Amino acid sequence: MSFWSRLFGTVKHDKGSLSDQTESNVDAEWSRAECEFCGQQGIECDQAARYLYPIWKCSCGAIGSGAWLPDLDEVGDQLLDVLGITARVSEPCVPTDHPGITMQRYDVDKVEHSMTEILRNHGCEFRVTLKKNPNERLFWAKRINTSA
Ligand SMILES: [Zn+2]
Repeated sequence: MSFWSRLFGTVKHDKGSLSDQTESNVDAEWSRAECEFCGQQGIECDQAARYLYPIWKCSCGAIGSGAWLPDLDEVGDQLLDVLGITARVSEPCVPTDHPGITMQRYDVDKVEHSMTEILRNHGCEFRVTLKKNPNERLFWAKRINTSA
């Protein structure tokens, strides 16, 4: 997962490798995002954020983060952390001898359901952006109750 290191200068774990060609395309697509709440386009990734996955902060107050499906539970955790919520949605990592099917190890629908519940309990709304690549998603959260 070396493109994260190019974007953020840090890599926590290695889940395989990408060719150089794929890497440059991914960089371009992941450096900017479109807000799932207000539709603002071209939001630049918050490079100052010291997190493993990219963070986008929209002027409308929404915060987004995203990754490939195998990492979305960790993206959920990170988003909760950014929002100051201590709950977590990730499941323990289970080693596998089948590198190509790691994304089957957890249920992304369950993660998204958990995120919806947790964020609702904290006065936030949860939305998901489905990207062109079906293996990539962005998670968005926005505080809808400012007194929460
Ligand atoms: Zn927005």
